[in-house]
Amino acid sequence: MRLHEYQAKQIFRQHGIPTARGELALTPEQVKEIAEKLGGKVVLKSQVLVGGRGKAGGIKLANSADEAYELAKQMFGMVIKGHKVEKLYVEEQLEIEREMYVGFTIDRASKGFALIVSSVGGMDIEEIAAKHPDRIARVTVDPIYGLWDYQIREVLYKSNMPKEYHREVTRIIKTLYSILVHNEAELTEINPLVVTKDGKIIAADARLNIDDNALYRHPELKELKDYTEVDQTERIAEEKGLNFVKLDGNIGVIANGAGMSMATMDLIYLEGGKPANFLDVGGGASSEVVKEAVSIILMDENVKVIFMNIFGGITRCDEVARGLITAFSEMEIPVPVVLRLAGTNEEEGRKLIEEFIREKGIESIFLVETMEEGAKKAVELAKGV
Ligand code: GDP
Ligand code: MN
Repeated sequence: MRLHEYQAKQIFRQHGIPTARGELALTPEQVKEIAEKLGGKVVLKSQVLVGGRGKAGGIKLANSADEAYELAKQMFGMVIKGHKVEKLYVEEQLEIEREMYVGFTIDRASKGFALIVSSVGGMDIEEIAAKHPDRIARVTVDPIYGLWDYQIREVLYKSNMPKEYHREVTRIIKTLYSILVHNEAELTEINPLVVTKDGKIIAADARLNIDDNALYRHPELKELKDYTEVDQTERIAEEKGLNFVKLDGNIGVIANGAGMSMATMDLIYLEGGKPANFLDVGGGASSEVVKEAVSIILMDENVKVIFMNIFGGITRCDEVARGLITAFSEMEIPVPVVLRLAGTNEEEGRKLIEEFIREKGIESIFLVETMEEGAKKAVELAKGV
C-alpha cells in the first residue's frame, strides 16, 4: 500500500526527519486559508498516488494566498496519469540550494534492502543513474545485522556527497531505516532531500509503501488507505477476499492460485491475446466465490471472453462447476466462457456443466481439455474469429 506524501511526511516527522510546515486542503478556500497561515509563499502539491507529479503539472508554486487560491481552482479536478486531484498538500516554500536523494527498497536478490543515495536528486532514480553515475551509490543491507555505519559512509563517499552534509544525512538515513523496519515498508524514499539556502536539510518529498502482507499488523496504517485511489472493482474484490488486479486487455481470467493465474496469463500472451485482469479465487474456492468472481470480471466493459482455468487440488471442480452454473442462472453473462477443469472431482464437474449446457441449450460455454487449448480458444473468441 502506497501512502500519500502528506501521510508519509507525518510519519517522517514523528521519527525526526525534518519536513516543511504544511496542511492538507480539500477546497480552494482551504488552500487560501492555509496559505495565509503559512505566510503566502507556498507550494501546492497534488496528493495522487503516482510519481513524477512535478513534470506532469501537479506541483505549483504560489507567491501569495490569492495566487494559491487561483492555482488551486485549476488544480482540483485535474487528472494526472489517470488520477484525479482531490487533495492538495499546501506547504511553505523552500528555498532550494541543492537536491539530493535517499531511499531504501527491497533487494530480492540479496534477500535484504538496498540503500541508494545520490548527491543529486529531484529527477527519477533511473535518470540520476544514467546521467550522474558518479553521484549515486548503493549498498545492500542484511536485515538480520541491520544497517552499519560503515555502509552509510561508503555510500556517502561513493556518491561524492559534500562532507558538510554527512552528519545530518547520516542521521536521516538511519531514521529512514528505522521507519522502514518499524512500518514493514517495502520502499521508502526522499526525493528530493533538499539543502535550503540557509543550510537546512529537509525532506521535500516523501514516499512510503507498506508491505500489504504485513498490513494486518499495522491497523493504524491500514486506516490511511485512500479508497478514492483504488480501482472500484479492485476495492469490491478486496472486500470479498479475492485477489484481483485490473489489467488493460480483454480476456477475463479466473484461476485458482497465484501461480496458476500467472501461468494462464502467460499462455494468453503466448497466443497473442491480452488478459483484462488477474483474478485468483484461491485454494478451496466455494461455488459462491466462483459466482462472485464472474460478477466482478463482468464489471469490466472491456472483457470479451472469460477464461476459467481451474486445477483442482483442495478446490473441487464440481464446486467450481456449481458456481458457474449459479452465475449463469442468476445473472446475464453476455460473453463466452472458456472452461478448463482438471484435478479433484474433474469428471463430476465436467458432467454438471455438460448437462447444464444440454438442458439450457447454452452455446457460450466452451469446455476444453487443456489450458493451452483454453488459452487458444479464449484468444480466438476475444478476436471475434
Ligand atoms: P514528484 O514530482 O511527484 O516527485 O514531486 P516532488 O515533491 O518531488 O516535487 C517535484 C519538484 O518540485 C522537486 O524536485 C522540487 O524541484 C520542486 N519543489 C517541491 N517542493 C518545493 C519547494 O518547496 N520549493 C521549491 N522551490 N521547489 C519545490
Ligand atoms: Mn519527488
